[in-house]
Amino acid sequence: MIPVQFDYVAPATVEEALSALAQHGDEAKIMAGGQSLLPVLRMRLNAPEIVIDLGKIESLRGIRDDGDTIVIGAMTPHAVVGSDQLVAEHAALIPKAIEHLADAQIRHRGTFGGALAHADPGGDLGAPTLVLGAQFVIAGSGGTRTVEADDFFVGLFETAIGEDEILTEVRIPKHTGWGAHYEKFVRVAHQWPIVAVAAAVRVEGGTIAEARVGLTNMGSTPLRARAVEEALVGQPATADGVRAAAEMAAEGTNPPSDLNGDADYRRHVAGVLTRRAVLAAAGA
Ligand SMILES: Cc1cc2nc3c(=O)[nH]c(=O)nc-3n(C[C@H](O)[C@H](O)[C@H](O)COP(=O)(O)OP(=O)(O)OC[C@H]3O[C@@H](n4cnc5c(N)ncnc54)[C@H](O)[C@@H]3O)c2cc1C
Repeated sequence: MIPVQFDYVAPATVEEALSALAQHGDEAKIMAGGQSLLPVLRMRLNAPEIVIDLGKIESLRGIRDDGDTIVIGAMTPHAVVGSDQLVAEHAALIPKAIEHLADAQIRHRGTFGGALAHADPGGDLGAPTLVLGAQFVIAGSGGTRTVEADDFFVGLFETAIGEDEILTEVRIPKHTGWGAHYEKFVRVAHQWPIVAVAAAVRVEGGTIAEARVGLTNMGSTPLRARAVEEALVGQPATADGVRAAAEMAAEGTNPPSDLNGDADYRRHVAGVLTRRAVLAAAGA
């Protein structure tokens, strides 16, 4: 279908974009890579009067080192983030997830910030950013504010970004030396995950010293598998050491039921993927 007719602006700065948002209120829609927005407009699930394209705002692109943090501009395409050396060295979980995100074309057009702002419960970047304790920098007419990952994902397709605000960058604390793995379960290639598990693990002398585990599509937002994380600490980084902890993966989750599998099936898959992801992250 062809979208309902809309006006289009492509501001050159965040300030101009914010002032366009303030002027048009909820009649406006921000566009990043357009990979999720345009299908929504074509299906006429949304019909904004004006689309504000962030594509010309250079300050929103790029990756930089900021001491103990890596900063990823919201408009940086998935393909750039996924092949960046700094990200690979200090936040290895992110490229591991991007490797499995959609296909090469979408990874070149879609952006890191766009995917996170879209907040699809099946999105592959939510759980990794949650696991790594990312901070989300959001600009509004009153200045910028920073939201912790735990508070960013509010509900189904809903984040802490207000209607008159723009996500400008994502700050990721360095996890240098941590092992990482993203285990994604799909029926066919290039699909959204039925369930996926993001694991970051620090191993000391064969024992798991710290573990962070996140779940994709096990509820309306990405979730931390905190029971698993606690149970893993002090365990040997072996199949036997990880098995019992991984079985707790579905604790406190509320997975959906759909044509790809019902909630019980997803709970089972979450346990299996957690065991695989943690073992791979631990290098076992
Ligand atoms: C066929 C297909 C398969 C896909 N498979 C996967 C997959 O397996 N895993 C996965 O994770 N994703 C998948 N995606 C989605 C892909 O990751 C998109 O890139 C992403 O969801 C949206 O990014 P975008 O930059 O294109 O944002 P857009 O589509 O431009 O925007 C998405 C939404 O976020 C808002 N927004 C965007 N940027 C900002 C910002 N800076 N501040 C405030 N609001 C903003 C927009 O207003 C819009 O509501 C798939 C998409 C398609 C079309």
